[in-house]
Amino acid sequence: RKREQAAMKLTDLGWDPEWEAAFAAHAAEGRIPGRVAREIRGRYRVLTEAGALDARLTGRLSHEASDRADLPAVGDWTALIAERDGAATIAGALPRRGAFVRKEAGREAQGQVAAANVDAVFLVMGLDGDYNLRRLERYLALAWESGATPVVVLNKADLSAELAERTEEVSQIAFGVQVHVVSAADATGLDALRAYLAPGRTVALLGSSGVGKSTLVNALLGEDRMRVASVRDDDSRGRHTTTYRDLIALPGGGLLIDTPGMRELGMWGGGEGLDRAFGDVDAFADACRFRDCTHDGEPGCAVQAAVDAGELGADRLETFRALRRELAYHERKHDDRARLAEKNRWKQISKLQKRLYKER
Ligand code: GDP
Ligand code: ZN
Repeated sequence: RKREQAAMKLTDLGWDPEWEAAFAAHAAEGRIPGRVAREIRGRYRVLTEAGALDARLTGRLSHEASDRADLPAVGDWTALIAERDGAATIAGALPRRGAFVRKEAGREAQGQVAAANVDAVFLVMGLDGDYNLRRLERYLALAWESGATPVVVLNKADLSAELAERTEEVSQIAFGVQVHVVSAADATGLDALRAYLAPGRTVALLGSSGVGKSTLVNALLGEDRMRVASVRDDDSRGRHTTTYRDLIALPGGGLLIDTPGMRELGMWGGGEGLDRAFGDVDAFADACRFRDCTHDGEPGCAVQAAVDAGELGADRLETFRALRRELAYHERKHDDRARLAEKNRWKQISKLQKRLYKER
């Protein structure tokens, strides 16, 4: 098993004075900082100044998390207790500056962190059959929610004859978001992407499976492309597809987080990202008669009026309403789960009290 990750400076991993200040209490305990590069079922690969370490969470840390999204994820800064043979224990994690979180696939209302502490997210969409503006709207809402700068990357330019039309369509739904047309296969348009990858800056790649994320990583790695292969060598099953997330240090100093394609991209978060991604709807909504207008036939709805007047696309409003309903639904479920946990806690406490009384 390979573990000869070259030693790196912490600043090359995104470390800065603010992280340093947040780490002070851990440093006083003799812990060392490390950034999570990969996580597979509770086993972590963490990059430190001394190289990559295999790490596990302390029992306390894994039990204290009420939501899986609270556990350290790729991109997080952790406090480590180093052990022998390149092993370590994760004793704590620094509060995130932001994270791209989706609702975990399945019924449980839990968040799943795709990438933490990212400066920009590349929303990669293929200019082939993958192209879908409604899905992009969903990605944009989650990206804004992450606190990072969303960037739209239209890949497989070599397969499309309608580059200008596509770029225009995307710009219509992604206000103030940069749109880049590239071909990872031909390595064209990549310089525009490299601009986001200054030393210490972290970019996450998001998009459906097959849009070309891995090809893009390879192209951005340039002559160092073998490093992707070697970083992945110790995946026990020797799979070639991306089935887990990976933080990869580029030769130029930037950091890329490659995420697996997500079939289900459930909405998550407080809704600020949704409002930001649908700034046009939000602006019209200011003039609705009711503050909590759902724009679904209420009297005095300015958003519906905008659709009727042709100032807002009907399908755009439909997507907005669907995403908002989805958020509200998860929120209720999440609240129910919290209430249930609280109820069980009290049940247990009263059981314990009864037993104590009996034993007296
Ligand atoms: P991922 O699942 O997002 O990581 O996608 P991959 O990088 O594995 O790419 C999926 C397929 O698309 C592969 O067969 C790639 O060779 C192909 N591909 C990736 N980028 C391009 C591109 O710019 N143009 C063309 N024509 N094919 C591409
Ligand atoms: Zn309204």
